[in-house]
Amino acid sequence: MAVLLGCIADDFTGGTDLAGMLVKAGMKTIQLIGVPTGPAPEDVDAVVIALKSRTNPGPEAIAESLAALEWLKAQGCQQFYFKYCSTFDSTSKGNIGPVAEALMQALNTNFTIACPAFPANKRSIYKGHLFVGDELLSESGMRNHPLTPMTDSNLVRVLQQQVSAKVGLTDYSVVKGGSGAIQKRFADLQKEGCQFSIVDALSDIDLHSIGAACADLALVTGGSGIALGLPENFRKRGLLKTSADADKLGDVHGLKAVISGSCSLATQEQVRLMKAKSPAYHLDPLALADDKNVVQEALEWAAQHIASGPILIYATSTTEEVMNIQERLGIERAGAMVEDALAGIASGLVEAGVSQLIVAGGETSGAVVKALGITGLRVGPEIAPGVPWTKAIFEDSKAQPLILALKSGNFGAPQFFNEAWDYIK
Ligand code: ADP
Repeated sequence: MAVLLGCIADDFTGGTDLAGMLVKAGMKTIQLIGVPTGPAPEDVDAVVIALKSRTNPGPEAIAESLAALEWLKAQGCQQFYFKYCSTFDSTSKGNIGPVAEALMQALNTNFTIACPAFPANKRSIYKGHLFVGDELLSESGMRNHPLTPMTDSNLVRVLQQQVSAKVGLTDYSVVKGGSGAIQKRFADLQKEGCQFSIVDALSDIDLHSIGAACADLALVTGGSGIALGLPENFRKRGLLKTSADADKLGDVHGLKAVISGSCSLATQEQVRLMKAKSPAYHLDPLALADDKNVVQEALEWAAQHIASGPILIYATSTTEEVMNIQERLGIERAGAMVEDALAGIASGLVEAGVSQLIVAGGETSGAVVKALGITGLRVGPEIAPGVPWTKAIFEDSKAQPLILALKSGNFGAPQFFNEAWDYIK
C-alpha cells in the first residue's frame, strides 16, 4: 500500500520528533536520512525525510527539499508536510519561507499554514506571537542561539520577511471555534490574497481542530505538534488502521553514552544533573583549534569509564562561554569543529561497544548520524515530548544493533540524560 503522508524535516532531531508524534498517533513511521534512492519500505504509513536544510544556503535547502518532495510523490503520498522547529528557527533570509514557497509551487497549490505550536512542549502561539513557556520567543533562550538567534516573536512578521506571498493570521478567536471556523478563515484569507496563514494554538485540542481543517491542503507546514491532528483525517477516510505495537524496538543490552553538542538552556541543566551522577568529559573547542587530538583523548577517557556508565561527553557551555569561543574562532568554524569532533567520538564509542546512545543538539545529531553511516531510523517509544527512542538502520547491514535517541536542544526534562534509559522497550 502506498505511503499516506510524506514529510520533509529541516533537521535530524526535528524529523525524529515528528516521526515520534506520528507513531504515537497510530501511524507506522520510518525516518530516512536524506533523500533515498530505492523505494519506501513495505508496511509504512508515513515517511519523514530528514534533511539538514535549516541553516545551509537557501538555494541548497530548496533543491534538497524539492528532491525529497519528488521522491515522496513517487511513493504515492496523499499529503505533504514540511517540518521545522517549534521555535521557528531560521536565519534572517530563511530557510522556512523560501522552502515552503518552492514546495507550494512544485505541488501547484497556493495556500498553506505555518504553525510551529507544540503545547506539550510549552510552545504556544497567540495573536501570531510565539511563546516558549511563559516568555515571548524573543525573550527566551532562543535569542542567543549559536546559529539561528530568534529576536522577533511575531511570526506573521518573521515569515513575511522570508516570502514574496502575503502572510495572514488565523487567530485564537477563530481557532477556538473548531475546524469549520478555521476552514472558513482559510477561505477568507485566500480571497484576501494570502498564501500563508500563521495559526494560533494553545492546546492539543486546538492542534486537532487545525489538523482536521487541513485535511484538504496539499501541503501543511509546522512543528511536530500540528501533525497530531493529521492521522485522524486518513482514519476517517478508511485509509489508516491503528497499530498498537508500532513503537516496539526489541530487547537491547550494552554500554550507554550521552554526547552533547547543544548549548540550549535545557541541555545545560541536563548536563549539570548528569555530571552529578555519572562520569563526564568536557570537550574544549579551543583545544580543538590548537590541533590537539581531542577525539583520541576523549575516547581514551571513555575506555576507562564506560563500564561504570552511562558516560557523558559534552561541548555544552554557557552562553557567555560560547560567545567567547565564537569571537575567537568564528561562529561557523567553532560549530563545525565541535560537530566533527563529537561525530568522531560517537564513531569511536560505537566501535567500542556502545549500543545505547543519546545525542543532544540538532546539528550535532546530524553530524553523528552521518559519521555512523545511518540511513534511517525505526521510531519507537517516546522518552519526552518530541524525543523517541529509535533503532538505527545502517548503510552496512552487518552493523551491530544501536538504539539511539536524538534530542533537539531545548527538549526534555532536567533529568532527561539520567532517566531516558528506563523508557526503552
Ligand atoms: P541545538 O539543538 O541546541 O540547537 P545544535 O547541535 O543544533 O544544538 O547547535 C549547537 C551548535 O553549537 C553546534 O554547531 C555545536 O557544534 C556548537 N557548539 C557546541 N558547543 C560549543 C561551544 N562550547 N562553543 C561554540 N560552539 C559550540
